[in-house]
Amino acid sequence: MIKTISYLGLGTMGSGMASNLLKAGYKLTVWNRSAEKCEPFARKGARVAETPADAVRDVDLVAYCLSNDQAVEEVVFGAKGILSGIKAGQIAMDMSTVLPATSLREQQAYAKRGVDFLDAPVFGSKNESAKAKLWIMAAGKRDAFQKVESVLQHLGQTVHYFGRNGNAAAMKLVGNLIVALELEALAEGLVLAQKAGLDLDTVMEVVKVADFRSPLLVSNGRNILKRDFSTSFALKLMLKDASLIAKFGESLESPIPALRIVEKNLGSAVALGFGDENASALIKGLEKEAGVEVKAR
Ligand code: NAP
Repeated sequence: MIKTISYLGLGTMGSGMASNLLKAGYKLTVWNRSAEKCEPFARKGARVAETPADAVRDVDLVAYCLSNDQAVEEVVFGAKGILSGIKAGQIAMDMSTVLPATSLREQQAYAKRGVDFLDAPVFGSKNESAKAKLWIMAAGKRDAFQKVESVLQHLGQTVHYFGRNGNAAAMKLVGNLIVALELEALAEGLVLAQKAGLDLDTVMEVVKVADFRSPLLVSNGRNILKRDFSTSFALKLMLKDASLIAKFGESLESPIPALRIVEKNLGSAVALGFGDENASALIKGLEKEAGVEVKAR
């Protein structure tokens, strides 16, 4: 039974998950590249580790949620990385959004040390992470998953098991392909509605009830109308995911024509300086082209 956990990467998503692990009563060690993000956890009784290798000492489960493949490369494989400290019998779990090939590389490296590995990325954003309402996917050996399942239930509202390593990472990219296209559809639709002179509050009332409704369209649409682009999921991370989806699609010779367009629009919005804003700031590039600002009256 898992009693002690290390959590590495206390960003938007990781901080919510680590808080919920403390609330659930697990003995927690934390590590973050920028050490100041560990302070609130130290005040609540967590041990603060000096390095990833130090963080994994004496725990049952090592979980991490990092920006991208490169961050995983540094924190897992780097000098003083997780692999240099982890021991046989421990379980490692990557909750970042990364290429399935990265998950497989992690699994192989951990297996050489007698460590079971799960790729366990999540859907949901800042709020869902803070409120333990994430939608979680996990892949790896079934018995390792079964050991970790009760931990995941403290973080999310659903947990789906996807079989062999890499499959949960693949599902995350499939889902984010849909998210990217939904955000593009919302942005193009709202710009068109604005140009057509429609009342945008009424537009959003229809988006909320019609048969194409989705919580993602409603929450992002409302925030765009309020011009609230505070970050739950950074635009630059959406661009990172678009490039992962493109690579993954190419590797399987699976067509992704619409994603290519969204990737280009995300790149333009990042180039305009909106990379640290929420992914919904994708609309700002289109607004510039259209010469309008989408805003409630
Ligand atoms: P974030 O707030 O930017 O946090 C990123 C974390 O990664 C921080 O702890 C950061 O450390 C760390 N990091 C980045 N580069 C690093 C490096 N080279 N070495 C060590 N640590 C490094 O991002 P987030 O929104 O929490 O996202 C984390 C992951 O979850 C990403 O893969 C993202 O795609 C995925 N995700 C995000 C959402 C969302 O809505 N936000 C939803 C689902 C999945 P510092 O604090 O030092 O910068």
